[in-house]
Amino acid sequence: MRVLISGAGIAGPTLSYWLARHGFEPTLVECAPKLRTGGYIIDFWGAGFDIADRMGLLPEIRRKGYMVEEVRVVDRNGRHIAGFSVKSLVRLAQDRYVSLPRGDLAASTFGKIEGRVETIFGDSVRAIEQSERGVHVTFERGAPRDFDLVVGADGLHSRVRELVFGPESQFEKYLGYKVAAFETQAYRPRDDLVYVMYTQVGQQVARFTMRDDRTMFLFIFADEDASFPADLQNQKALLRKQFGNGGWECPQILDALDAASDLYFDRVSQIRMDPKHGLWTRGRVTLIGDAAFCVSLLAGQGSALAMIGAYILAGELRRANGDYSKAFARYQQFFAPFVLEKQKAALRFAGYFAPKSRAALFLRNLMFNLLAFRWIANFAFGRGLSDKLRLPDYE
Ligand SMILES: Cc1cc2nc3c(=O)[nH]c(=O)nc-3n(C[C@H](O)[C@H](O)[C@H](O)COP(=O)(O)OP(=O)(O)OC[C@H]3O[C@@H](n4cnc5c(N)ncnc54)[C@H](O)[C@@H]3O)c2cc1C
Repeated sequence: MRVLISGAGIAGPTLSYWLARHGFEPTLVECAPKLRTGGYIIDFWGAGFDIADRMGLLPEIRRKGYMVEEVRVVDRNGRHIAGFSVKSLVRLAQDRYVSLPRGDLAASTFGKIEGRVETIFGDSVRAIEQSERGVHVTFERGAPRDFDLVVGADGLHSRVRELVFGPESQFEKYLGYKVAAFETQAYRPRDDLVYVMYTQVGQQVARFTMRDDRTMFLFIFADEDASFPADLQNQKALLRKQFGNGGWECPQILDALDAASDLYFDRVSQIRMDPKHGLWTRGRVTLIGDAAFCVSLLAGQGSALAMIGAYILAGELRRANGDYSKAFARYQQFFAPFVLEKQKAALRFAGYFAPKSRAALFLRNLMFNLLAFRWIANFAFGRGLSDKLRLPDYE
């Protein structure tokens, strides 16, 4: 079976890997001219960690990753005002926990299929026509081609979803925050293995020190207006406007941003699709990862869920011997309830990132300090750090 997968982020390459392993013929199409390696540091644990293990990725992920030791909140003068040790979280995840740059996870996953799965960079699906015999796909640049199935793994702003299910506005739930991340060289100061964050009411900037003299930054800010500029210069200008009056290292971080050529900038949103209308599936087309069920940055698990969804979809296609309607139905039945829970949990976490009032900020910092007590850490994160999903074995 020939399967076209749109999007080479995290979900797309993972699905390609498992489909190829199960004897399918995947083709990956990515609109960017090369693999996109931007983004912030992500915490990786739970069932996503188990999939990485099954793909043989763990040694590389552990090598590229970081065992973060501390989350530290500072005030406008850089004084340590709150925080907690990450050790208790690592223990709760039974040591199957690592933090790594999203770009490194993307590169490692892609490394598993590079040269083995047909991959087209710099192109995108323009039209999708389904018939009983297959799917006829027209591309923006390449010649039209026929496939048996099409999978949209093209992220929050999925083209496949728009073409097959309708406009993004029908499915996107904007959570009232914008996020941006970038990386720079030779930034000072450095604090190894510490997430340092400076929070003002409704906005936060965080810094993470990496190997090879690299440093990563993450901005998050509340904004009622969901729109944002598409071009790099205006995105930088918006961040300067938002953080220009900030204390701590804001002025020098904004100077480093001026020199950056790659910036990840997006809304913090969830994608909620309607189970009454086929959820993520229409005929021979289905969706995975953020395209289907974006849980948002607030869940801290988007990449893991993208990998788990890809594993289950590929496995169900194998189990159903290519009977795609059966496989798509099982994939959804099994995975949708789990994802829905994660989306709800993410909403509960919204206030942790950039509390919208002084009182909420005070309580967040107090909560961080209380995490030093083991039973409070268990209470706050215990449920979240152990995925109740039992991964099926498809081989
Ligand atoms: C550059 C980048 C940086 C990110 N940084 C962060 C971060 O710092 N924090 C965070 O929480 N999340 C971040 N994300 C989102 C995070 O990667 C996802 O939430 C999660 O990994 C789910 O992965 P996914 O594969 O479903 O989607 P994504 O990782 O978003 O991948 C989607 C892929 O599809 C491609 N694509 C989009 N439209 C088309 C099209 N029309 N045709 C073909 N290909 C298309 C994109 O270029 C991208 O490579 C980032 C995503 C990207 C692309």
